[in-house]
Amino acid sequence: MEKIFIFGHKNPDTDSICSSLIREILDKKNGYTNTEARRLGKVNKETQYVLDYLQIEAPELLEKVEEGQKVILVDHNEFTQSVEGIEKAEILSVVDHHRIANFQTSSPLYYTAKPYGCTATILYEEFKQFGHEIDKKEAVLMISAIISDTLLLKSPTTTKKDEQALKELSEIAKIDVNTYGIEMLKAGTDLSEFSEEELINLDAKKFEKDNIKYKIAQVNTVSIDDVLKNQVKLEEEINKKIKEEGLDLFVFVITDILNNNSEILVLGNRSDIISKQVELKNNRAFLEGVVSRKKQIVPFVEKGIQ
Ligand code: MG
Ligand code: MG
Ligand code: MG
Repeated sequence: MEKIFIFGHKNPDTDSICSSLIREILDKKNGYTNTEARRLGKVNKETQYVLDYLQIEAPELLEKVEEGQKVILVDHNEFTQSVEGIEKAEILSVVDHHRIANFQTSSPLYYTAKPYGCTATILYEEFKQFGHEIDKKEAVLMISAIISDTLLLKSPTTTKKDEQALKELSEIAKIDVNTYGIEMLKAGTDLSEFSEEELINLDAKKFEKDNIKYKIAQVNTVSIDDVLKNQVKLEEEINKKIKEEGLDLFVFVITDILNNNSEILVLGNRSDIISKQVELKNNRAFLEGVVSRKKQIVPFVEKGIQ
């Protein structure tokens, strides 16, 4: 039978991996046996913590898709963040919690967009709508995605739906969400073995507005200074990336997950988009209370573009 691939965005995060796995399980429960989760990049350390906890394997890597390949997108829709060849794939369905941009299809599709804090929260509702029981493994996958995307419900992207889902799922999984969540998030902040080049690529997303191409990369940490200790080398790598990909702007966001603030490092010939809104010193600015790329940084950048 023809395979249908399910995947989240490039530089996959915990929601992208867990929601792909959850969607595959949901499809199987609904009688669709030919859908399979895939990933568009390396599993990060936070997600690896989840997979190890559950003793399960990551989905297989998908490098590109052929023309006409049937696919299901979770946790993203923008083609700039999707698999190589996506323009010619047949998108059957999207389940996402981001803005809709740089996206079009030639055929009708199922598209579920809800402004929740996490894709897994949408899938959790779908499990309930279909009347499926949720087992411990499924619950832990959803819990992990929700904790990751909402930073343990502290991100401004968090909704009542995420809170409610997390509460109900923690009862099924019988785990202490705070203890598990802190351990999981901390696993993701171990950046010690990454080069500067890797740091700026771990969780980078590309955007385009009014012909301005920009990239926002984000890392979670418990020490902002630690990540920026080699700023010169970081800037070198960012400038290289700007050249390679023809970017106008690169914003590197270093998020302190304990205090819920971020420092940004901004480069590119259109860094005025940022500097006209916030003073940059040494290409940097501290953003109090800012943790969310989609709800805080992207709108901030786009306001500067207008
Ligand atoms: Mg994501
Ligand atoms: Mg997400
Ligand atoms: Mg994220």
